[in-house]
Amino acid sequence: NAKDLGRRTYKVYQPGMGDEMRARRLLEEDLHDAIQAGQFELHFQPRLDLKTLRIASYEALIRWNHPVRGQVSPVDFIPAAENSGQIIPIGQWVIDAALSAAKASILDARISVNVSPVQFRDADFIDNVRKALERHQVEASRLEFEITENLLIEDDERALSILMSLKDLGFKIALDDFGVGYSSLGYLSRFPFDTIKIDRSFVQEAGQNSSSQAIIETVVRLGKALNMSIVAEGVEEMDKLLFLASSGCDEIQGFLIGRPKPLANLQRNLPPLVTEALASLTEIPKSM
Ligand code: C2E
Ligand code: MG
Ligand code: MG
Ligand code: MG
Repeated sequence: NAKDLGRRTYKVYQPGMGDEMRARRLLEEDLHDAIQAGQFELHFQPRLDLKTLRIASYEALIRWNHPVRGQVSPVDFIPAAENSGQIIPIGQWVIDAALSAAKASILDARISVNVSPVQFRDADFIDNVRKALERHQVEASRLEFEITENLLIEDDERALSILMSLKDLGFKIALDDFGVGYSSLGYLSRFPFDTIKIDRSFVQEAGQNSSSQAIIETVVRLGKALNMSIVAEGVEEMDKLLFLASSGCDEIQGFLIGRPKPLANLQRNLPPLVTEALASLTEIPKSM
């Protein structure tokens, strides 16, 4: 069908295409040269470990600095790159850049990398990852792959075998955006996740909404039972940090801790207000 064709072939704009289609084609054309032109950059957002009170890892987030469009959000160009198949070289660039960052200057912190289902299903994915690891001489356990559950829905036998190969190589695996979409609990026992990232929509509702709080507390308990680490995404306010710490959540990520930054400006310390809040917390006996 047209979608499969679109994966591999490179189509240019033709009169008669809808506006949306046309915009996407133009974006895909620009994407085509973006790697060679050096327009991509990784930013790194810290994840705070609530047990050690240190930055335990950073999530690598791609940025596209387009010469005319300015900074294009991954939310806008990743779907186009998936559609055209360009996500495969782009995703490989991300893995390379993340490994070289891990090697260069992030000390012993872990780096997590988002992987698209299209990239993940590529026949050469495992091989390319293995080669990248050898090239950079980095411990595989320093890298965590973040996948979303739409990867698991389509063909979970194949997804399972790829995840197992990644685990065998020593990588960590995180389930991203947990709680939106299908979120079958069966995934959690069936697939070898090290980490579950609770989607930021739950975190952001946790202030006003007691059912979001209950869901977070339940996922935290589930994570403990399954020996997985729980990360809450999208933490913007101190009351969320306090709630998440008291509920036993392992790690938090969000603008309160720090925004994504280029490697040259990598954030190594916590904001003073966060440090103060954490200091006051440790004086209270833990509830769990
Ligand atoms: P994600 O993997 O769930 O990444 C988290 C997103 O939430 C990032 O958006 C991050 O900047 C944003 N964020 C972090 N803390 C907060 C907060 O406190 N409040 C709010 N409102 N947002 C917060 P970003 O960088 O725009 O990336 C969006 C999505 O694009 C990512 O969601 C991921 O699905 C995708 N993406 C980003 N980089 C890559 C990549 O290298 N490869 C692939 N395949 N996808 C990527
Ligand atoms: Mg992610
Ligand atoms: Mg996420
Ligand atoms: Mg997401």
